Amino acid sequence: MAPSATEHKNKQDVDLTGQAIEHKLAEIAQLKQSNSSDKPQELDASKLTYEYTKSPRPVPASIEEACAGPETICTDHMITIAWDAETGWAAPELRPYGPLSLMPTASVLHYATECFEGLKVYRGVDGQLRLFRPDCNARRMLTSAVRISLPAFEPKELEKLIIALMSVDGPKWLPRDVPPDSYLYLRPTMIGTQAQLGVQAPRQALLYITACYLPRMNSVAGGMRLHTSPEDMVRAWVGGFGYAKVGANYGPSLQATLEAKQRGFHQVLWLYGPEGYCTEAGASNFFVVIKSRETGQVQLVTAPLDDRLILDGVTRRSIVQLARERLAGEVEVVERRYTIGELQEAHAEGRLVEAFAAGTAYFVAPVSLVHHRGQDIPFPMASADGGKYSLLAKSWISNIMYGREDHPWGVVVPEKAE
Ligand SMILES: *Cc1c(COP(=O)(O)O)cnc(C)c1O
Repeated sequence: MAPSATEHKNKQDVDLTGQAIEHKLAEIAQLKQSNSSDKPQELDASKLTYEYTKSPRPVPASIEEACAGPETICTDHMITIAWDAETGWAAPELRPYGPLSLMPTASVLHYATECFEGLKVYRGVDGQLRLFRPDCNARRMLTSAVRISLPAFEPKELEKLIIALMSVDGPKWLPRDVPPDSYLYLRPTMIGTQAQLGVQAPRQALLYITACYLPRMNSVAGGMRLHTSPEDMVRAWVGGFGYAKVGANYGPSLQATLEAKQRGFHQVLWLYGPEGYCTEAGASNFFVVIKSRETGQVQLVTAPLDDRLILDGVTRRSIVQLARERLAGEVEVVERRYTIGELQEAHAEGRLVEAFAAGTAYFVAPVSLVHHRGQDIPFPMASADGGKYSLLAKSWISNIMYGREDHPWGVVVPEKAE
């Protein structure tokens, strides 16, 4: 039975975000069933057209060389897909990488109607190209897009387009003879392009996918040093959009990060509320391993998703799942709120085991110190490379990424012959 008008209204009053995503997905399902010829088109990866570059560029010798300059180096091609509220999604185009053309009044430039994803493609030990759980990124992109009134799409189609771009550019830009542990970084992005001022949901948008080099960031010698966020700044708040990968989350955080770096730290540990809840480290999720005061049980603790303060990281989610499977009986995995004060207490009582940040860019990066209001909270590091559990998490996941372990999370990209 359809929900009554009041039930519907109440739900919307309480959970607008959840409702909005459900509505959009229902709309897509309805479109699929309708036979009307002038209905808006769905995103359809099978309509992809190919226009290859006439001026292919040289491939840098290494990630380090590629990242030495001031501009991100992208591969030869990108995929773009235009959307219009009347006609829906146009046919996706694979075309030469290059500048976009936007009117100065485009929605994204004024109202931050932008969201993005970040994932890597890896050249495995068996010579195959793999993505790591791209379905999670595609679904998260839908959540982010809907949060800022950008159009919905079937996540599977985005996943197919990501694979299509890598099928074309992977063989040249991540060749079979690259050093082990090499990767490219993929950046699916959506922007509101409607050239009309006025605070409203854009009726035109552009989804595009680029692939580029990203510096290796997981090897800070001696571990990362974090500085807690200043008292007068929050990254995300309950009812906000911390759970969405929208550009609007990042610009306002740059100042605190710059300040922390000038003081000799690597990232900001974002706290929330007067209680000082620990949320995220820079644009990575944050994990601590502590011994319970009551039972001595070793716990792997990370902030929860249910209050929608933090980003649902694919790396975070994978570590939580694998640790529950593979460390059952040894480590208790707990998703809960915890405060910086709790960490200070655990330090004073000798119960801190280790800490690490986790995300696609930094992968699993051990943390050796958190600085909070003039005081240091040091975290043990079993070796210069990290503690036992960060090293375990790193090896589990990298084994899947690089094809050392056959696992459904590692998705092989079929490569086009050059
Ligand atoms: C992207 C991001 C992460 C990490 O997510 P992954 O899917 O693991 O890369 C964590 N926190 C924030 C704020 C992010 O933007």
